[in-house]
Amino acid sequence: MKNIGILGGGISSLAYSYFLGKKTTIIEKESSLGGLCRSFDDNDGVSWDIGPHITFSKNKEILDFITSLAPMNKLKRSNRVFHDGRFVKYPFENDLFALSNSDKRYALNSFLENPYENYKPKNMLDFFYSTFGEGITRLFLEPYNRKIWKYETSFLDLQMVERIPKPPKQDIIDSASGKETEGYLHQLFFHYPEVGGFQTIVDSLEKKINPKPDIHLNEEIVSISKNKNKHIVETTLSQYEFDKLVSTLPIHELIKMIKPSPPKEVLNAIAKLKYNSIHITSLKIKGDVLGDNFAITIADPKIIFHRVSKLNFLGKNYYKDGFTNLMVEVTFRKDMPEDIPIDELEDRIKSDLFKLKFFSPKDLVEINTRTFKYAYVIYDLDHRRNTDTVLNYLKSINIEPLGRFGTFEYINSDKAIELAKELAEKMKTE
Ligand SMILES: Cc1cc2nc3c(=O)[nH]c(=O)nc-3n(C[C@H](O)[C@H](O)[C@H](O)COP(=O)(O)OP(=O)(O)OC[C@H]3O[C@@H](n4cnc5c(N)ncnc54)[C@H](O)[C@@H]3O)c2cc1C
Repeated sequence: MKNIGILGGGISSLAYSYFLGKKTTIIEKESSLGGLCRSFDDNDGVSWDIGPHITFSKNKEILDFITSLAPMNKLKRSNRVFHDGRFVKYPFENDLFALSNSDKRYALNSFLENPYENYKPKNMLDFFYSTFGEGITRLFLEPYNRKIWKYETSFLDLQMVERIPKPPKQDIIDSASGKETEGYLHQLFFHYPEVGGFQTIVDSLEKKINPKPDIHLNEEIVSISKNKNKHIVETTLSQYEFDKLVSTLPIHELIKMIKPSPPKEVLNAIAKLKYNSIHITSLKIKGDVLGDNFAITIADPKIIFHRVSKLNFLGKNYYKDGFTNLMVEVTFRKDMPEDIPIDELEDRIKSDLFKLKFFSPKDLVEINTRTFKYAYVIYDLDHRRNTDTVLNYLKSINIEPLGRFGTFEYINSDKAIELAKELAEKMKTE
């Protein structure tokens, strides 16, 4: 029987081990499993994710699988865009009525009479113009996407947006006249564990794996080499030998570990692949603020964060009575203006939140920040070519890449589980 080593212990790794149904070994550098799906408990015992993680999926089988893992609250989306001092329902184009009269006219008329409509888009910005028109693009889509990706949208490719359907004309007309319309229906309802944050999903998936994998926590993988047909994996504590490797490690880290060093073209490709890191700041506030909303997105470039989420929305176990728990997200890459010491960042977040008048400074009780290096894959115009160069090389040396940063795709946990299942089913037959 093949001896399979799984590098990294996030949701992809656990799902792969579960669907394979054979003994595996999982090596994880952190003290707990879950990777980006981990949650952290605060002093009140409330669990915080790495950016609020919600469960939704276009794949019903996977959605049913995830929701069967733990008792879940089913919630109806109530997200807002904070634009020009107003709360506009998300998606922006489905609530033009909430805009000022001049913005409303601009957004509606440039959508209905859109000179870009028949051009075939070549990048994300073209796509926004041709699908939504100039007003919706300039008022929200372009500044928001530039802010979260920290990248010019005309240099981002279409992989992330090409599946977004063109909104029906009647919906946008209705939205401008104040009739209720909804967009992005696959995310209209979502699930969230009743207790314990997203980590609950990780923990119950781990418990379901049969046979139990050998799990090695607190072991950082430092090198990977070959001895005849065996992979030799060296960690900070030990050395392992495997017939087959599945790697969920960020490919930027994995490539550095491989000995002998990969060919130049692979090193060149990896150097060009871009990703964003993220600061996640949690704030505890006295009183109930921001109404019955979950996520508020902010495109204004003068405000440092792109999203504020209210954890109270997720259920009674995500706040203490009389308080609001907010989570703020700031993306950055090395040496950008947002790549600053935590105390400076928190001062800036507080001052921007006060500027927006989301709550009064005297009501802030606590603020804490955690920073994560690998958060968002950037689909720049060369992403596909460079990623394929790296992945083809890994496959050529018999390493199966898996997961969000393991395959360098912008995937959520549902897709990570789906891909893990596919790989496990393929490898069962090998
Ligand atoms: C801000 C944010 C919000 C998100 N929101 C959602 C959401 O709402 N819904 C949703 O479904 N998904 C969401 N996601 C995506 C979701 O987190 C990922 O798709 C999923 O966690 C990817 O899991 P993975 O196992 O592929 O990778 P990871 O979780 O990155 O796992 C990789 C593992 O490898 C380990 N590792 C790295 N280097 C080493 C080493 N040298 N040695 C040993 N171990 C190592 C890491 O510690 C980690 O545990 C969000 C992600 C972010 C960043």
